Formats: sequence, C-alpha cells, structure tokens
Amino acid sequence: MGLDKSIRYIKGVGEKRAALFEKKGIKTVEELLYFFPRSHEDRSKIKPIDKCVDGETVCIAATVYQLPLDRYVRRGMLITNMSVMDDSGVMQLVWYNNKYVKKNFTSMDKYVFFGKVSRAKNGRIQMVAPVYEKYGNERFTGKIIPIYPLTANLSQKVVQSAMELAINEAGRLAEYIPEHIREQYKIAELNFAMRNIHFPSDFASYNIARERFVFEELLILQLALHERRGENADTPGYVFKDIKCVREFTDALPFELTGAQKRTINEICRDCKSGRQMNRLIQGDVGSGKTAVAAAAIYMAVKNGYQAALMAPTEILADQHMESLSAMFESHGIHAVRLTGSMRAKEKRAALEETALGTARVVIGTHAIIQGTVEFKNLGFVVADEQHRFGVEQRAKLMAKGNNPHMLIMSATPIPRTLALILYGDLDISVIDELPPGRKPVKTYAVGGNMRKRIYDFIYKNIKTGMQAYVVCPLVAETENSDLENAEELAKRLSEAYTDIRVGLMHGKMKARDKDAVMAGFVSGEINLLVATTVIEVGVNVPNANIMVIENAERFGLSQLHQLRGRIGRGGEQAHCILVTDAENEITQKRMETMRASNDGFYISEQDLKLRGPGDFFGTRQHGLPEMKIANLFEDRDILRLSQKAAKEIIDDGPDNYPMLMERCRKLLSDDVIMN
Ligand code: ADP
Ligand code: MG
Repeated sequence: MGLDKSIRYIKGVGEKRAALFEKKGIKTVEELLYFFPRSHEDRSKIKPIDKCVDGETVCIAATVYQLPLDRYVRRGMLITNMSVMDDSGVMQLVWYNNKYVKKNFTSMDKYVFFGKVSRAKNGRIQMVAPVYEKYGNERFTGKIIPIYPLTANLSQKVVQSAMELAINEAGRLAEYIPEHIREQYKIAELNFAMRNIHFPSDFASYNIARERFVFEELLILQLALHERRGENADTPGYVFKDIKCVREFTDALPFELTGAQKRTINEICRDCKSGRQMNRLIQGDVGSGKTAVAAAAIYMAVKNGYQAALMAPTEILADQHMESLSAMFESHGIHAVRLTGSMRAKEKRAALEETALGTARVVIGTHAIIQGTVEFKNLGFVVADEQHRFGVEQRAKLMAKGNNPHMLIMSATPIPRTLALILYGDLDISVIDELPPGRKPVKTYAVGGNMRKRIYDFIYKNIKTGMQAYVVCPLVAETENSDLENAEELAKRLSEAYTDIRVGLMHGKMKARDKDAVMAGFVSGEINLLVATTVIEVGVNVPNANIMVIENAERFGLSQLHQLRGRIGRGGEQAHCILVTDAENEITQKRMETMRASNDGFYISEQDLKLRGPGDFFGTRQHGLPEMKIANLFEDRDILRLSQKAAKEIIDDGPDNYPMLMERCRKLLSDDVIMN
C-alpha cells in the first residue's frame, strides 16, 4: 500500500472512520504512521488466575464456563456477569451498561482478557470491563500495545488495528537519514523505529525508536530553520570608527548602567567596528533596561555619520520611546522624528522628507517605517523592539531600508539558552540578566475564584488612593460552552459594581485606533481600571499601575504571565499580581507556585518547558516553531544537542548531498509558518 494512499482503504477504516481520523489531521497512510502513541500498555505477560494480585493490570487466558448474565439494578443500570476459568482458578468478569458484550462470547471457548484485577475478602477474583479477544490469534493482547492520544468516537482498538495493518502493508519505508549519520549518532533505522514506536517488542526497543524520531524531528526543524534563514553569517557591514563616543551618551544618563547593560553595549561596540554586519539579539527580562542600551547604540551610529531607526510593534510603544528618547537625543544635538500610521498627512510628509534628506538622524516609529514610501539617506543602524511581535519578513524589510545596516533585536521573552541557540542560530545573543537596583519585585498571589469580591474591593480601595490597576481575561467576549472570564462582561460588571471609578476595556478585536485611545486614557490616568486581554502584553509603561489581576490564570503560559506581570511594578510602590484560578490539577498548582516564587524570566520559561509535555510547549507557537510531535525541548535536550551538531555537519557538507532528508524537511514544513 502506497504511503500517499487514503487511510479509508485500510481494512476496518472506511469512509466514516476516515472522517474521524481526519479530525486528528490524519488522511494518508503516511500521516497515520507518524501519529505516535502517547503511552503503551504492557499486555505481554499472561498470568494464571490464582497468581493475580489485587490491583494489578494483567492478561489472563481463560475459558468461558458460564455465559454472560444480565441483571438490572436500580434506575435501569445493567450489570453483566460472566465466569471464566483456567487451570488455576475462576474469575468473574463484569461489565456495566454494556448491552452488546454478551453477543461476543461462546460457551467453552477460550479468550484472552486484559484488565485490572480486584480480589474480594471472600476470595472472589474479578476484572471490570476487560479488553478481550479470541485466544489463538491475538492482536491486542500478548504484547505491548500502543495507546494513542484520542478524542471521543475513535476507539483505541480501531486505531491500533489500523496502525498494525498500515505498518504491515506499507512495505519497506525508504530511509531518509543516511547511514553514516545514523551510525555516528547511534540512531535507529526507520523501519525498526516505526515498528517499535507503535508495537515495541520490549520497552528498551521503544526507547531506541523514540530517540530516533526525537532526533529526526529536531534535526529537520533545524535544517528547515536554516533553509528559511538563508546565508547571512558573513555579510560585510559598516565600520563605526569611533566607538568611544558612546560614553558621552551613557555618562549623561540620570542613572548608572547595570553591569549587564555595560556588557551588552560593549558587545555591540565590538560588532560595529568589526567590519561584519551585526545581527544581535538582546534578551532581557521586562524592566531590565533594554531601551537605554539601544539608545546608546543609536547615539554611536549617529555620531559615526549614519541614520538610525527604532521600530516598535505598537503606536503607544513608539510614542513612549519617542517621548523618553527624543529629548535625550536633542540635548546631544541629534534630531529625531516620529513616524507612525496615525500621523496626519502633513506631519507625515515632513517626517518623510527629513528622513530622505538625512536631517532626521533618528526615526522612531511603528510598521510605518517599513512602508514603501519611506526612504533614508544613509541608514546604518536599525533596532526592532519586542521582536516576537515582528515576523522575519518585517525585519527583512527594515534591513532593506539601508544597505546592510547593523541590526539590533530586543526581546523581553527570555527563553532557555539551548532553545535560543536553535531559534536564533543566526544571531549573536546578549543577555541582560540583571535588573536596575532598587526594584521591588512584584508580589504574586494565586487564589481561587471565591476570593474575587475581596480582590476587587482591595483594588477599588487602592484606586481611591490614586493608583491604577489592570485586569486580564482570557477571552474577549462571551462564548458558548465556556465559563472562562471574558473582558467585555467583566468590564461591564465592574463598572456597575463600582460606579465612581472609570473602567476601560481593551482587546484585540478592537480597531487599532480605538485601542490606542483607551491605552492613552490609561496612560494619562483618565481610566482607573483597565480590563483587557493579552493585548497589553507589550512593553507599555504606566508607573502608576501597581495591581494586576489575571483571571483564569491557568489558561496562560508561564512566560506570558511573566510578561503581563512585567506591566506593573514600574513605579516606586510595592506592586501586586493576583492570579485567579479554580483549576486544581497538579500542573496548574505547580505553575502558579512557580509564578509566586520567582521573578526571573529565564527560570520561569525553563519551568514552563519542563511542566508542559511534548507537543503543547507554550512558546513553540509564540516563537514561531512548528508544534513538536514527539520531542520535549526540555527533557530531550541531550538529543537536541546531538541533532544540532548533526544539522551543522549536514549544512557544512552541503544539504544537496542529502536530497531525501531535505525533501522530507520541505514536505513537513511547507505549510507550517516558521519564525514569526
Ligand atoms: P525594558 O527592558 O523592559 O524595555 P526599559 O528599557 O523600558 O525596560 O527600562 C525600564 C525602566 O528602567 C525605565 O524607566 C528606565 O529609565 C529605567 N532604567 C534603565 N536602566 C536603568 C539603570 N541602569 N538604573 C536605573 N534605572 C534604569
Ligand atoms: Mg522595552
């Protein structure tokens, strides 16, 4: 059977079930094969009945000596009992509300049963709702059986059966990882791995199989990222002859730079005189002072005769940068202009003209900077703030405004070093891992919904003393089948409950202009309490806001919670962040505890990686990675390192020498967006 064939030709699948598979993204035999189990059940050992221990899950092989008997008990509940025996003893099998089960057995025939055993005091041994099949040609017992991550309507048995047939009928799969790589990295061959990831002969074989697919997934990911990036490692760049001048700027700052800020500025200076174009990422926690570093670098660029541009993801952020930086620049005799979408035509025309003529030495703005109409005279240095809001394409457009200008990218989403090396393999990375002195860490609490009244009363009291607060909700508006908080309704409820304060509402479905108006109202203090979705995530600074409530906190990634929390605690007052959640599962508890205990963005993102299983790692989407099917970026970091090495070797050797692997890579990622 060809790999591209529809799964509906597999025996036992058919049209109807194929539609159910399709909901899981599985249409072809190949897609089915790459649908990996979430765990396995060891049904390999058959035990005599009298050796079965209370509570254990086992297989028995036994003969039916009393056919199923139905019994109706209260409220029409149906209990079906059947007795079976082997050479050693007798066992009762029990099913609840299963009308059909009795049709499946013949008296004195032998079956294999798999299930959890319980032993009563009187010696009666019982198994409830076991898996069963005829003895002699077992398919689902007598071995280790895969358990798939399924949703309703598709049963394990159907998938297990289809999978077994698919593996047997697909024939020999063409291996795409060359032998010398597999030997060097001790990676299992594809056919062995495919059989053993689903139907392992033992758990050691399963582990070997899994390692192969983890390695493969991470290898392909890195090759794909490399493909997208293209080669830009050794582009020549402008040489900034005078780098010492940066001191003139930093000495004039009203504060002493932190050690991490100084180190980062030194790294930038070194890049800019090297003759190579700089591509540097600054990773720094919220509030670590990235802007001052960028400003110093911009100063240096201008002093060396170039124009510089700073692009921010929102108007408000651009305005804040403009406000805090332009005065500083002007005091050094450097003219800065603003360039945003909402500017009046006349004002914009003037800014464009100054930019083209070169009288504007610094341009601070939004996406408006990369529009076609914008021309620079000699752009030599560009900064992208809050990079996770920009796509590669936008960064490329910004670069294209000059002739290979130096590029500085700033990110407030710290991620573990191992991951950063993959995601930003083409960038040099500076880490600002130190906050300016005197910051009071935000106090964080995790509480249940029953505390809500007290929380909002506390906020109200604070607002009455002149403070401001944020409330963050996971949803914009009310939706069916969801009891998550939504911003619209909560804003309404709060403004009705507290009539003498002004409640604002902001979410992603609003027009940019309306959002900006609300935010401006909050910045100016006109709005006391801002109810919003995660649109407030990005680096806006409202020093007067010192309380944040996050509703349904379990719905957010840890790094996202940390980002949100970074919006408060920017003034001198003690800030409070209250995480509201009614989710009681262990993972949520651990995640809330992490937030409560730490203010360190790097630590938090690492915990996030650890606490989330493979597949749903929060940041892969946020960071533009395709979803991991099998690899866990935290637990598999050893394999990650190996695959990194292998990827580098393949790239150095020339990807063209690996046509099958590269084809697989393109096939898998063709419709996945990478690096956004
Ligand atoms: P972020 O890294 O989140 O972009 P900002 O650059 O906005 O942080 O800086 C946050 C605040 O800290 C600003 O008000 C800035 O003036 C201030 N700041 C930056 N560096 C220092 C420093 N070394 N000492 C004291 N305050 C600083
Ligand atoms: Mg910032």
